[in-house]
Amino acid sequence: MGNLIKPETAVWGKEEWLYIAKSIISGSVNKGNNVELLSKTLAEKYPNSTVFVLNSARAGLIASLLLFKKKQPDKTQVIIPEFICDSVPQAVKKCGLVPIFLPVSDDLNLNISSLYTGCNEKTLAVILPHMYGKSANIGQAEVLLKEKKIYLIDDAAQVAGVNIESKPLGGFGDVGLLSFAQAKTIVTGVRASGGVLFVNNKDLIGALTENLQMLPFTKGRLSTLCHFLMVYKWQRVWKRMDYYIQRLKQRIWDVHPDYYAQVSKISNMEAGIALAQFASLSQRISATKKNIEYYQANQQLLTSFTFPQITQDNIYLTRMILQSKRIAPNILAKLLLQQGVVSNTVYGTGSKIFDGTSLSGLLELPLQGLALVDIDKVICALKKIEDNSYV
Ligand SMILES: *Cc1c(COP(=O)(O)O)cnc(C)c1O
Repeated sequence: MGNLIKPETAVWGKEEWLYIAKSIISGSVNKGNNVELLSKTLAEKYPNSTVFVLNSARAGLIASLLLFKKKQPDKTQVIIPEFICDSVPQAVKKCGLVPIFLPVSDDLNLNISSLYTGCNEKTLAVILPHMYGKSANIGQAEVLLKEKKIYLIDDAAQVAGVNIESKPLGGFGDVGLLSFAQAKTIVTGVRASGGVLFVNNKDLIGALTENLQMLPFTKGRLSTLCHFLMVYKWQRVWKRMDYYIQRLKQRIWDVHPDYYAQVSKISNMEAGIALAQFASLSQRISATKKNIEYYQANQQLLTSFTFPQITQDNIYLTRMILQSKRIAPNILAKLLLQQGVVSNTVYGTGSKIFDGTSLSGLLELPLQGLALVDIDKVICALKKIEDNSYV
């Protein structure tokens, strides 16, 4: 098979590699002044928020939920959309709270009108993510929840550099989140490679500063970088080799580390990669928007497939999600691969089941870093699958 067209987990330029090289050569992988520089950069980009740079988004989420719980001990439930990264309901449970799942709209974001009936006297907080970078209607949620005295978490884990009503996503509600893990907008690696907590409600700053200011330095980040490069960035042969390395590690040392258990500062190396990712952000967003527009323009050629998140012009997405109306996603993935197009599964069970519901038949197509001719090939592959009446 020739060159595969596949989804990118990170679009890195020369600068990212330079930061890695510099921190290794100077022996400052874990500690160094990139962390301070990154905090300053973020403070400029999110002027109405107090910024805590951590090693994951969920660390900020857990710190916030525990504080909310302490302030309102009678409330035990946290609303989250039914379609979300698994780490979020896990974090809610870890805090001793109960996740309540509410339906999403066709664009895969939380259906805001479900909040009117879904919130009750037990509701402590709402976590509102912008799925795959597509902005949710957070302004409307903010007004409603303020009235009901329910905390709002603007979960912008997947997206940086997008403004709504001239405010950056992450800057709404009481607190906001940003993650630097694989396949987000800012990518510095995997397994607790970085995240940010934005504190937007001034009343929360004191308590969260007490909890998050004096964090320890992180360690062991070079080996997670190697894992990221082998499994996510380069794949192929390396993915197999990493599999054996991880197995060997478990055999010899009997380790099953939870990379997220330790809340720490981001490493100097990963803060450097984040700085490079922010420097190229607007350029990467425009390039991706161009690709989204191209998918959108070609959508009419297809009769069995839609792109549910493309509901308007000029939108940003981190990943292109396809919805198949008549063909099961596991079969579709095989047929695409036969034509050199690699697809990925989505969060939850959406790419395993196919039952005609709004959350089934989903599959991720290549998007970021693609040339338009590659998108032509993807569309062409889908068209062929339709025409061969597989569907
Ligand atoms: C990835 C993600 C998180 C968690 O981010 P980490 O940095 O891995 O903790 C939270 N919410 C959403 C919507 C995510 O996509």
